[in-house]
Amino acid sequence: MPKESFLLDQFSALPPREVGLAVLGYPIKHSISPQLHNAALKVLAEKEPEFNNWKYHKIEVHPENLSDALPKLAELGFRGLNLTIPHKVEVLPMLSSMDEQARAMGAVNTLNWEEGGWKGYNTDGIGLSRSVREVFDRSVKEFQVLVLGAGGAARAAVAQCLFEGCENLAIFNRSMERAYQLSSALKENGFEQKISLVKSLSHFPHNAEQPVLVINATSLGLVMDDPAPIDLSCLKGEVFVYDMVYNPPDTRLLMQAKEKRFPHANGLGMLVGQAARSLEIWSEREVSIHAMSCAALQAMSD
Ligand code: NDP
Repeated sequence: MPKESFLLDQFSALPPREVGLAVLGYPIKHSISPQLHNAALKVLAEKEPEFNNWKYHKIEVHPENLSDALPKLAELGFRGLNLTIPHKVEVLPMLSSMDEQARAMGAVNTLNWEEGGWKGYNTDGIGLSRSVREVFDRSVKEFQVLVLGAGGAARAAVAQCLFEGCENLAIFNRSMERAYQLSSALKENGFEQKISLVKSLSHFPHNAEQPVLVINATSLGLVMDDPAPIDLSCLKGEVFVYDMVYNPPDTRLLMQAKEKRFPHANGLGMLVGQAARSLEIWSEREVSIHAMSCAALQAMSD
């Protein structure tokens, strides 16, 4: 086992009574999840002091070590985990049960210790949906949706839109094969709505009467010099742009949207939304989105 990538030594003894929460990923150094969760836990602790014992960590876990890490973390007193790249799909066979929505998405980002095993949930879709509603004041159902990408984040976005009843949904991805796999997997999981797979934007079937929501779920934009995944000029009617990338906060796609005066937002609100839902699952309490948002903005400016 590559010891340096399974940094549990620091947790060989959690302080007595501590309820451990953590995000696992590889790499994990840049995650701001601890700031978000610990800010919301502080608010919970003001009303219920038992939450003073809850603490959220980040732990680098190499994919080869994930199956050893999960039982070990439970033994050490961890009760809630978030998973990020590259663990969201690989973890599935290691779970004792799975929430219906996560099963349909085929990926999980949240684990809760229930009845002696880790149960998997996916809160990325709800995080996206809450954020879209907050920034654009409309639900995803009100849009013709164009999802860019076909990886794990796109899968959560497409499934969430279908759950919420979107009737015009299209996927545009660099690899058509992967887009096809995503659409087939969702059909196998019981979704009956039609999903269009578009080879080029000129084939995106949309009308000028209903607004279009473009969701960037590709990793294009994570590097400052990345080009935009599409040229927004190809779209007609009212266009809204949601980029899941939040660091850097202004991607080329968002700059294009800004030039065209299209309503737009980066993915920081989605990060907050998925985190809030995870903490709701673990704590069974209402969570302060405000505290999490302030902590997220603060962490981004540090
Ligand atoms: P995956 O690796 O699973 O998928 C990456 C996707 O990006 C694939 O569709 C891939 O296409 C596409 N892609 C990668 N490079 C290029 C390129 N050069 N040109 C065109 N397309 C490209 O990643 P995830 O789905 O997990 O994450 C995707 C993005 O979403 C990331 O930026 C991630 O940070 C963000 N995200 C944000 C969240 C939030 O809370 N805001 C939550 C989760 C993710 P192909 O299939 O052809 O390889």
